[in-house]
This record gives sequence, structure tokens and C-alpha cells, in this order.
Amino acid sequence: MKNIVYKSTRGGERDVPASAAILKGLADDGGLFVPHELPVLDKSLEELSAMTYQETAYEVMKLFFSDFTEEELKFCISHAYDSKFDTKAIAPLVRVGGAWHLELFHGATIAFKDMALSILPYLMTTAAKKNHVENEIVILTATSGDTGKAALAGFADVPHTRIIVFYPKDGVSPIQKKQMVTQKGANTLVAGVDGNFDDCQTGVKKIFGDKKLGAEIGEKGFQFSSANSINIGRLVPQVVYYVYAYGQMLKNGDLVSGEKINVVVPTGNFGNILAAYYAKGMGLPIDRLICASNENKVLYDFLNTGTYDRNREFILTSSPSMDILISSNLERLIFRVAGEDAAKTRELMDALGADGRYEITDAMKEELSSFYGNFASEQETKTGIRELYEKTGYVMDTHTAVARQVYEKYKKQTGDQTKTVIASTASPYKFTRSVMTAVDQAFDRQDDFALVDELNKISKVPVPAAIEEIRTAPELHKKTCAVNQMEQVVKDFLR
Ligand SMILES: *Cc1c(COP(=O)(O)O)cnc(C)c1O
Repeated sequence: MKNIVYKSTRGGERDVPASAAILKGLADDGGLFVPHELPVLDKSLEELSAMTYQETAYEVMKLFFSDFTEEELKFCISHAYDSKFDTKAIAPLVRVGGAWHLELFHGATIAFKDMALSILPYLMTTAAKKNHVENEIVILTATSGDTGKAALAGFADVPHTRIIVFYPKDGVSPIQKKQMVTQKGANTLVAGVDGNFDDCQTGVKKIFGDKKLGAEIGEKGFQFSSANSINIGRLVPQVVYYVYAYGQMLKNGDLVSGEKINVVVPTGNFGNILAAYYAKGMGLPIDRLICASNENKVLYDFLNTGTYDRNREFILTSSPSMDILISSNLERLIFRVAGEDAAKTRELMDALGADGRYEITDAMKEELSSFYGNFASEQETKTGIRELYEKTGYVMDTHTAVARQVYEKYKKQTGDQTKTVIASTASPYKFTRSVMTAVDQAFDRQDDFALVDELNKISKVPVPAAIEEIRTAPELHKKTCAVNQMEQVVKDFLR
């Protein structure tokens, strides 16, 4: 097997082993770690189609995480993808109304972040051991709702770790908030920030970049790491389910071997769709990568014009995990379509920092031809939920509905009949109010947990344990802060 090592998209670091890249999260120069080259799948599609989720995970992860032993990786995989998931398939593929929904929400917190965050603590503590790290690892995370809870669930009470989560105080769904503020675990801290997700993310990045603070907490026996989707330990586990989905379609006779599929991804920070792009680069037969945005359609504009421009109004939508104007993982794609030119990548990212915008070259634009971008308005998202329910009885969440509506637009626009997998990123139970009022506005009169029971009635899908648990759970985290107080909150927790 090839030894894959990592380098920064901004040129400052090279030849970093996978375990060190996972521990650091972000490179010292502010760039993101990318593999020196993309590994190629070394099992045939037929062989992959006979594998369980865990076996598929090993086949993908062994190619990226070269410095982990087989025993270490299999330990991480078997502890991550176990009965925390409510189905043996881990990521079931469901055929609904002419498309395949890849349900990525069967983990502990019922959103797709569980797919990576249930394994990240194992990868990270294994990596710490391998690198003889004595410090306690402090996970610092900004969340638009789903990452925070999934990271908390993953890291709570994991020895030698602490986790701090910042979320936009008024920018997450009531159930998302309840899930976070009821989190148990002595090593956890959750704080609501008076700002939006981008404020939280910028604040966290600033803390990471603060060398003085890093040295200060180092003296106390701590070091920061990131569980955000910029961590390569988040990205690689997300490649797995695209390979698994293809294998399942092959196994079910939905495809002939080698037949291309399209993939639609409801996109925020660009991690999930980048994983699909990596899967394609590894040899998985994927044709188009369909990038779905909500009304914060910065990626749609970028894919259509070549100009990325965050200078616009930030819109709070019913798909809050996609309410993002700076998609961090896009930097990895930019680096690749720039021909791995770190200087060019740095120049563009500096422009984004200074002016909030940048423009790619025509040559780079051409490299983006496998991507298609579009968006769904709030009204279209609602209509999509109601219509699919009325037609098929299947109830999807708001994020998945954005993807489904963009898929319908794509089909209309192109006539493309390629079989298509829709990344279904959250359980409808996580966004119950938005989902139920989309089905019928009259539901708006009921409280959140009454709506849970109504959803159970109309969808006939059992109420997930993640929801049952928070019905009566006490609020343990009441802290809120201003954007400029985030650093102090961190310091106080690590005193
Ligand atoms: C995080 C999230 C997304 C966006 O995924 P990215 O990898 O950030 O693009 C979409 N839907 C849900 C439900 C999410 O939690």
C-alpha cells in the first residue's frame, strides 16, 4: 500500500503523517491538510458490494490513514459503528420516488455528523498515543447545530479529552439547542454566542491561530484540536458511505458494475460533497456532483460565475445546518483545481479574509465541470416536503428537501436520467416543527414534543432514542457570551 502523507493547502507544511494531521486539525499556516495524492480503491466494485459498512470503512480508511495499523483502525471502526446506530446497515439506502436516499441519520444524534464524529474520538485518542502526546486534547468547535451535538456525544467522558462547543444563540432549531444544552459529561462545555455561525467559526479560528494562548494552555497541560469538518479525520470517514452506497446499489441489482451515478448533497461547509468528490477521484463511478444550497446560495453563485462572494445578507432558514457563507472545506477543492498551487490558494484565501470575495481563473473554472450547483428557496423546500409525503408517504427533513428540490431542478434543466443518490443528512425528527408545518400549516399550533408524536403518526417511523431522551432532560449548560468573549470562556474552562 502507498504511504499517504499530508500537506497544507497553503504550502507551509509537508509530509505530515495522517495521525499528526488528525491531531492538529488545521495546519500551522492556516491551511487545511490534504493528501499528497488521492489513493485509488484497491478492491473491485464487486468485492466492495459484498462488504458490510464496517468492512467498507476499513477499505477506505486504510488507504488514507497510512500510519495506523490494521488493528488500530479496526478497533476504531468497530467501536464507532456499533449499536449507537439504530440499524445494522449503519447508512441504509432507501428508494423513494425515483431516487435513492442515503440515510445518514441513524446515529446517536440523528444527523449525518454522527457518521464521522462517532469515529473521530477513537482516531484522535489513537493518534495521541502514537505521537506520545501527554497533554489533554481540547476539542474546540463552532457549530451551526448538528456538529456540536454529534461532537459532544462522541467526546463526552472520553479520557484525556475536553470539548468546548460554541453555537449561534438564535441560529439553531429548538431541538438542536435542547440536545446540546442537556449534554452530560464533566469534560463538556457548551456556550451560546450572540452572533451567527460564521461569527462562531471565525472566533474559533482566531483562538486556534493565537500562538500566545496556545503556549499559555500548553503550560497547563492542554492542547487544542478541532472536530470541525476541516479535520481530515472527519473528511475520510465521510468518503466511506458513498463507496458503501454504490456497493449496495450494485448488490441490489440497481446498477451494472461501472455504471455511473450522480450524487446530490445538501451543502454547508462543503465537507460532505468534498468527500463525494474524493470518492470519485478514488475511482468510484460518480458522474455529476450536485451541490444543493438553501437561500444562502453563495456556492450556487460561485459554481455559476467563478466568483466567491460572502458579502451578502445572512439568511436564517429552516435548514440551519446549511446557513453558512464561508464554506471552509471549499479550500481543499480550490487547491486541487488550482493544480495544487499553494501560493494561488493562499492568495485567494487572503482575499476572502480581506475583502470577503475572490475570483478563480478560467482554467480553474473548467476543472469544476463535474459540479452542478443550484438552490431551493424556503417555499420550494416546504413544498418539496409536502409533495413527496403526499406522493410516497416518506417524510424528509428540511436539509434533505433542499437537496431533493435541487435534484428536481437539475433533471428538468438537463434531462439527465442518471441514477441518483441523495445524501439525506438529518432525521425529520430533528426539525420537527419545520417539517410538520410544511406538511400542514395547522400543526404550528402544537408544542415541539406534541409535534414529535404527530410526526410519528404520519410517518410511521419510530421516535428515535435521541428525541425520547431530551423530552425530560435537565438543561445543564446555560452559558452565553458575546463574540469577543469566546476566548475568555475557553480560558475559564481550562483554569
Ligand atoms: C452539516 C450538515 C449539512 C452540511 O454539510 P457540510 O458537510 O457542512 O456541507 C447538511 N445537512 C445537515 C443536516 C447537516 O448537519
